[in-house]
Formats: sequence, structure tokens, C-alpha cells
Amino acid sequence: MRKPIVAGNWKMNKHIGEAQELAAGVAEGTNGFDDVEVVVGPTAICLAPVAAVIEGSNLGLAAQNMHWADSGAYTGEVSPTMIKDAGCDWVILGHSERREYFHESDKDINHKTHVAIEHDLKPIVCIGETLEEREDERTLQKVEFQVRAALAGVNKSDIKNIVIAYEPIWAIGTGKTASPEQAQEVHADIRSMIADIYGQEAADAIRILYGGSVKPHNIAEIIAQPDVDGALVGGASLEVDSFVSIAETVNSKQ
Ligand code: PEP
Repeated sequence: MRKPIVAGNWKMNKHIGEAQELAAGVAEGTNGFDDVEVVVGPTAICLAPVAAVIEGSNLGLAAQNMHWADSGAYTGEVSPTMIKDAGCDWVILGHSERREYFHESDKDINHKTHVAIEHDLKPIVCIGETLEEREDERTLQKVEFQVRAALAGVNKSDIKNIVIAYEPIWAIGTGKTASPEQAQEVHADIRSMIADIYGQEAADAIRILYGGSVKPHNIAEIIAQPDVDGALVGGASLEVDSFVSIAETVNSKQ
């Protein structure tokens, strides 16, 4: 049985005090949710302050990005050892905003995925198609390419610690959600591709999250899909009530 995950990507939102307040509220609201892993993803500057307030809770802590080097002349970057030191056990990699605005390539994301594994950080690797690609019926081709590229050279034994987040770009922050059937089709395709590369055991173990305008009102039908193992949540992770409500629904998935 795969334990579902609800991860919040706070993006470039919340100052330190606000981030601590939100994290404390989420920790309290999800206390006792034993059937879901709940993860919060503040900005880099808020990681350590948030770690301090969630200590002792069940919440996981994710950075939204990291560099691949441990240290060096990379002005403005944050290293894997630094995010670990700040308290992270997770790292979001290859979010579509990083790919689009900061020109992260599939090669960069593959490099960072390897580095995350080496540092015992669990990567949440984001992939997804544009609206144009969906309309051209190139969705599966695109996501298969991105998953293969991100996982190139990754050992079978590490697959269980990697999370894939399928995030159709046209559904991020737009209020448009993929239908449960659209999400299931892509998730099942990714899982069967993992089975082809790594075998059925790895495919059964890897967790595949859906992301794209997930809200309290639509999470139930999304999580009901057999290959959806949770959600990566943007906007709705910025309020305690909406995020806890999403986590609660996932926690009660049969
Ligand atoms: C995201 O950015 O990862 C995301 C899914 O955002 P939203 O939930 O706001 O669409």
C-alpha cells in the first residue's frame, strides 16, 4: 500500500512570521492524520524558522528548489546540505515555474534528482504538459519524456523514495483542474512506464501526485482514482483551513 502525500507548495508567499503561523496551524490541524504524509514547502528563507515551529509534529518540510553543488560560487543559490541543515527531508524539483522562468532543463532536473538521493532528500519531481501539447494529443509523449529524463541513471532501489508530481501546466493557478479521468490516464501511463523500466514492484511503490488547482471541493474525486497517490497543492496550501481539509479528505481515502 502506498501512503498518500499532500504537499503544499507555498511558492514566493509568506514572510517569516506568517509562514510560522501557517505551519503551526497545519501541524495542529493535521495532528493524528495517520494515513497521509503532509508536507509544507515554504520559501528558502522560511525553512529554518518553520522547522523550529513544526518540530515534534508529523509534518514534512520541503524546499522548493536547490542547487546541485554542496557549496561554491553560485550567487543566490541554496545547496542540498543547506536545506538539510535547515530541516528539510523533501525537495520539490523541476516545477513548471522553475522550468519556464529560470530555464531549468531536464538535464538539470536529472542532476538534482541524483543529488537529492545522495543527500537522503526525497525529491518531488514535477512534470506536465502545456495546453498546446494537450490539444495536439502529445500529453503522454511529453510526460513520458520528462519522467525518463528526470530518472535517467537512477537505481531501482531508489525509486520508492522518489515522488512524481503530474501537474498539467494549464491547470496550475488557473482554477482549471484536469478531470479525474484525465489525471488517472496520465498517472496510469507513468506507472506502467516505471514498470517497463524498473519492474512491477518499483511501479507499485512509487507515489504519483496530482497538482493543478486542487481545492477542498475537488480533491475527493481526484484522490478516488487508483493511480493518484495524493496532491501537490499551490494556492489552497496558503490557508490552514483549505489545506487541512484537503489533507483530511486524502487521509480518509479507502
Ligand atoms: C503548483 O504550483 O504546484 C500548483 C499545483 O498550484 P495550484 O494548486 O495553485 O494550481
